[in-house]
Amino acid sequence: MSYTKRNDGRKFEETREIKAEVGVIKNAQGSAKFQIGETIAVAGVYGPRNLYPKFLQDPEKGVLRCNYNMFSFSVDDRIRPGPSRRSREISLVTQRSLAPAVNLNEFPNAVVDVFVEIIQADAGTRCAGICAASMALADAGIPMKDLVAAVGVGKVGDKIVVDLDKFEEDYEGGASDMPIAMLPRNNEISLLQLDGELDVKEVKEALEMGKKACENILEIQRKALKDKYKGGK
Ligand code: UDP
Repeated sequence: MSYTKRNDGRKFEETREIKAEVGVIKNAQGSAKFQIGETIAVAGVYGPRNLYPKFLQDPEKGVLRCNYNMFSFSVDDRIRPGPSRRSREISLVTQRSLAPAVNLNEFPNAVVDVFVEIIQADAGTRCAGICAASMALADAGIPMKDLVAAVGVGKVGDKIVVDLDKFEEDYEGGASDMPIAMLPRNNEISLLQLDGELDVKEVKEALEMGKKACENILEIQRKALKDKYKGGK
């Protein structure tokens, strides 16, 4: 089906409005909030700290552990609290998206815990969570070779678009959603999932648009980190 105009009037290559802030949880070593449209993610980093049970420890380097959770009231229908198959999958892909950016060699036998909470959801929550988590890791002073920026790309009707909202994900004319995460400095992709169908040409076009969006997101993440230290927080 032809999709000529986006529901909220955005250009096809345009993300929703983004707001980012660092240092939002006083008791965490590092924390951040990342909002894209109506989707809001908060991340807290705790550690490096001792990892128990001990058999999970790595004597060579620290372990990065991620936990993704959606608040019960983050969507219209209440979500049942506690882990689900979906939250376990997203925790795992969050960990794998962030791992290439962090260097935990200095912390053998330790764990760095990253908790991602989705306060409000309107699609793109795993990407918003990854953006918040990478800022929180940087805020915690964990050695990193780059920030990780993430965004959903995909196809709505017949158009390749960036940052699908829930209306677009559920578009009656058909939609495919491809969340990606990047380490923009080296043009490295650390997450690529696909829900739906895209041909090779469409994947390339979507990746190109996603890459530009990630470069823009990276600037917003950097600015939020700089602003914290400028403000002397
Ligand atoms: N969603 C929901 N209930 C759920 C899970 C998801 O309403 O139990 C909504 C929510 O808005 C979410 C969207 O569906 O952002 C898309 O979910 P998906 O699993 O594709 O992951 P996301 O795009 O959030 O990374």
